[in-house]
Amino acid sequence: MRIDLHAHSNASDGTDSPAELVAAAVAAGLDVVALTDHDTVAGHAEAAGAVRALPAGSRLTVVPGAELSCAVDGISLHLLAYLFDPEEPEFARERDLVRTDRFRRGRAIVERCRELGAEISWEQVRRIAGAGSVGRPHIASALVEAGVVATVSDAFTADWLANGGRADVRKHETDPVTAVRLVRVAGGVPVFAHPGAVKRGRTVSDQVIADLAAAGLAGLEVDHTDHDEETRERLRGLAGELGLLVTGSSDYHGTRKTVRLGEHTTDPEVYGALLAQATGAKPIER
Ligand code: AMP
Ligand code: FE
Ligand code: FE
Ligand code: ZN
Repeated sequence: MRIDLHAHSNASDGTDSPAELVAAAVAAGLDVVALTDHDTVAGHAEAAGAVRALPAGSRLTVVPGAELSCAVDGISLHLLAYLFDPEEPEFARERDLVRTDRFRRGRAIVERCRELGAEISWEQVRRIAGAGSVGRPHIASALVEAGVVATVSDAFTADWLANGGRADVRKHETDPVTAVRLVRVAGGVPVFAHPGAVKRGRTVSDQVIADLAAAGLAGLEVDHTDHDEETRERLRGLAGELGLLVTGSSDYHGTRKTVRLGEHTTDPEVYGALLAQATGAKPIER
């Protein structure tokens, strides 16, 4: 079984449509892929339709999920949420709040970029984002189009869009203890995404992770491209101490990042343990 529990579609900052992501997951030989767009479930219906329409003989399970934007003590972090009830009103309202604020903040970032001499526009960013939940990677693509930087990842520096960079503007982000509770209230299973991704900015202390574990966190995403071997070992130890599950995943973003689907995977037993905790939704199977 090959299980990849973190992937983005163009419902947020990936480049594949949800149906293309399903096709890519089959082509990559995955058995399970989780659709975890930033702060939105907008891709779920299309992904479900694509899975059900797969030809007999191909097999794939899609785990509906999301990746929530959180912050504590000024440090941004991401919380993966699997198999929650998308209709549960409290959690739905919070996702709505973050998504709406992404528009205000996106405009403000474009304005900052223009003040700094980059000839990009909000219309251009909207075209790049399409119907997707607007984020810095879309603005990064606009900066690439304008010839300001060579690649999306080159836009994530102190000069431009990195956390605390010249053109960074914060958005509304949920307190992670609150987010863990909201995911559980909606019957979902919360896993801390790339908790040691230092290249993205400051990361939270072990105490914060312990507090999240006490609030109902289910696991830590340990095997992730942004973690070096030493970080993975440390996080594995911490997960053991706190009784948390350990997952691995690609964080695929289509052509917007270089990672491949299935680059890192989750143990089938861990996947089973996550499923056993979920009451809000069911995996979508062909
Ligand atoms: P946002 O949600 O708008 O704040 O943008 C965060 C997203 O930007 C993350 O989910 C990643 O997809 C991307 N990102 C953050 N840091 C980096 C980085 N250093 N290099 C490339 N992409 C990044
Ligand atoms: Fe992203
Ligand atoms: Fe993330
Ligand atoms: Zn992600």
